[in-house]
Amino acid sequence: MQLAWFPNHSYPLGRSCLSPHHSMSKAIEEVYAALKRSFQGSLLRPDDAEYADARRIWNGLVARKPGLIARCNDSRDVQAAVRAAASSGVIAAVRCGGHSLGGFSSCDDGLVIDLSPMRQVHVYEEKRFARFEGGCLLGSIDSATQTVGLAFPAGVVSHTGAGGLVLGGGTGWLNRLHGLSCDNVRGFSVVVADGSIVRANAKENPDLFWALRGGGGNFGVVTEFEVSLHPVSEVLFGRGICPGDEVPALLRHWRDFMPEAPDNLRWGFSLRSAPHAENIPAHLRGRPIASSSALWVGDLEEGARYVDRALAVVDHHAVTKEVLSFCALQTLADSDFPHGRRYYTKAGYFKTLSDESISTMMEALATNPSVSNEIELNYLGGAAARVAPGETAFGDRSSPFILNLLANWSDPAGDYANIAWIRGLFARLRPTMAPGVHINFMSGDEADRVSEAFRERWERLRAIKTIYDPRNFFRLNQNIPPLTAAANTIPG
Ligand SMILES: Cc1cc2nc3c(=O)[nH]c(=O)nc-3n(C[C@H](O)[C@H](O)[C@H](O)COP(=O)(O)OP(=O)(O)OC[C@H]3O[C@@H](n4cnc5c(N)ncnc54)[C@H](O)[C@@H]3O)c2cc1C
Repeated sequence: MQLAWFPNHSYPLGRSCLSPHHSMSKAIEEVYAALKRSFQGSLLRPDDAEYADARRIWNGLVARKPGLIARCNDSRDVQAAVRAAASSGVIAAVRCGGHSLGGFSSCDDGLVIDLSPMRQVHVYEEKRFARFEGGCLLGSIDSATQTVGLAFPAGVVSHTGAGGLVLGGGTGWLNRLHGLSCDNVRGFSVVVADGSIVRANAKENPDLFWALRGGGGNFGVVTEFEVSLHPVSEVLFGRGICPGDEVPALLRHWRDFMPEAPDNLRWGFSLRSAPHAENIPAHLRGRPIASSSALWVGDLEEGARYVDRALAVVDHHAVTKEVLSFCALQTLADSDFPHGRRYYTKAGYFKTLSDESISTMMEALATNPSVSNEIELNYLGGAAARVAPGETAFGDRSSPFILNLLANWSDPAGDYANIAWIRGLFARLRPTMAPGVHINFMSGDEADRVSEAFRERWERLRAIKTIYDPRNFFRLNQNIPPLTAAANTIPG
C-alpha cells in the first residue's frame, strides 16, 4: 500500500525554496565551482565512487540524493560550504553521525555539509573537561575520555552522532546523576548562517548559548563543543525479562518507587515481543515481555542491593548482573539498532503512568507487527530535573516518565503496518500524556509538534533564530522558523 504521507518512502521536507530540478543542478554546480578552489576536504558528486556510501544515512526508510556532499576537514571548510550554499540559494543539510530519526541529515539535489572527518577529541584531565569537534560519534568521545577514567553524559548507542544528540538535549545512562548532555556543555564554536564563526558560552553570546542547549541544529553548524566530564569507569548493570501478565504489577511498582530512588539508579524497560533467542525461555518466545534494565553508577555494594531489588519485584527470567566498564555499557545496545534498517518513532512524556496507559501498551503488544518494535519507558528526574526550566532551551523536565515508541523492521513491505502501529498506539496514549517531546526522538513528519517541544521557550527561540539565521538557511531540522521570514524560504 502506498503511504500518502510517505511519498517514495521519503519524508516530505515541508515548503522549501527548491527550484525545478534543472535550475537546482545549475545552482549546485555553482556551489561546486566555488568550493573547488580552496576546499580542504572532499567534494563528492553523484558520479563519484564514494558517493553511494556517503549519501546513506542510518534510517533506511529515508533515501535521498544530494547534488553534492562536502566532507569538511575543518571549520574553514564549513564556513566555505555555508557561504557557497547560501549565496547560490541551495538547500543544505548538516550531517554529523547521520542518525537523525527523521533523516534531516540529507536532502534531495542540495548540499550535504558532512562533518564526519571532524572527529578530534582533546581531554583536559586535571580540569575535567573536553573539547570535541562537531562530527564526533559518541564512541569517539567515550574512547578518548575513558583513557583517564572520565565520562561525558550522552546517549546509549555509541554510533550515534554527538552533534545532533547534544544540540537536541541528550538523554542516556548518566542523566539522573549528571544531567542531560546539553547541561554539561560549557561552550560552542558555531558557524552561523552568514558564514562567520561565533563563540557561545556563559559570557559570550549568552542567548545563543542558551538556545544551543536543546534547540537543535537551528542556529548554525557547531564545529567544536566544550563539555564537562565526570569520573565514571565501572558500573553495575542488571537485566531480566518479565513475562507479559506480570508487567502491569512491575510497572505500577516502578512508577511509585522511582520518585524516591537515588540518582545513582537508572531503571527502565523495553516492552516488546520476546525474541526467538536461546537465552529466552521457550515458553516466552514471541510473547509480550518487559525487558528490565537496572543501572547503578556509584558504590558497587550499595548498588547491588538496589539492582537485586529491582529484578526481584516480580519473577524475572534470564537475570544477569555484572560489573561493566563504561565503554562496555555504552556499546551494549549498538547491535540492536543497525544502520540501514527502517525505523519510525513517536515520543512524549507522562506526568504519572496511569493504569489505563499501562493496559493500552500491553494490548498494543498483542498486535505488534515486528519482533524488533519496542515501547521504551524511562524515568528522568535526578540531576536533569533539578536544572531550572528557563536555564536551557531544552523542553520539559517536569514530566519524568519518558515514552519512546520505536518501530524497527527491514522489509519495505512492512512500512505501512509498522508506521500505522506506532501512530495508532500513540494516538491512544496521547490523552493520558503531558504536552511536550524531546526533539531527539521526533520523526520527520512532526513539524506541528516542534512548538509543543519548546512551549514557553518558543518565542525566545524564534527571536534568537531571527538574529542568527533570519532567512532560515538551517531548516532541515526540527525547525524553529525566524520571526522575519515566511518559514523555509530563501530568495533564490
Ligand atoms: C540508534 C540511535 C540511538 C539514539 N539514542 C539516543 C539517546 O540515547 N539519547 C538521545 O538523546 N538521543 C538518542 N538518539 C536520537 C539522536 O539524538 C538524534 O537522532 C540525533 O539527531 C542524532 O545525531 P546525529 O549527529 O547522528 O544526527 P545527524 O543525522 O547527523 O544530524 C541530525 C541533525 O542534527 C543537527 N546537527 C548534527 N550535528 C550538528 C552540528 N555539529 N552542528 C549543528 N547541527 C548539527 C542538524 O540539524 C542535523 O540535521 C538516538 C538515535 C539513534 C538513531
